[in-house]
Amino acid sequence: MTHTTDPNDPRIRRFGDPEIGKQNAAYLVLSEEERAKGFVRQVRRTYVHQFMLDGSPVPYPLMSRNGLAGCGVATTMSLPLAETYARDPSFYGATWCCGCGKHLPVSEFTWEDHTEVGS
Ligand SMILES: [Zn+2]
Repeated sequence: MTHTTDPNDPRIRRFGDPEIGKQNAAYLVLSEEERAKGFVRQVRRTYVHQFMLDGSPVPYPLMSRNGLAGCGVATTMSLPLAETYARDPSFYGATWCCGCGKHLPVSEFTWEDHTEVGS
């Protein structure tokens, strides 16, 4: 996986891009200097496509309150992406799901310990 620190890098796809069904040619990350300033949360690399309801993950294929269901598949990020999340939990609005094969809102995922991925 390639990383870029340039928000205008044309290899980055925006959420809603017609080619959303493919992984990006490059993923935007914070620079090493910015990441070195410290993390506001622990660095975690694996998230699961699942919704939380009343503090518990909604088991697939049960539907969550909004009528959607996560596929329950875990996706592991590269370290620069994981460190970018840990430095700025609101940095990404969407993230890749290996199970669904597309980018989806971060709010549809939890970490393996069931805490929310987004800030
Ligand atoms: Zn999924």
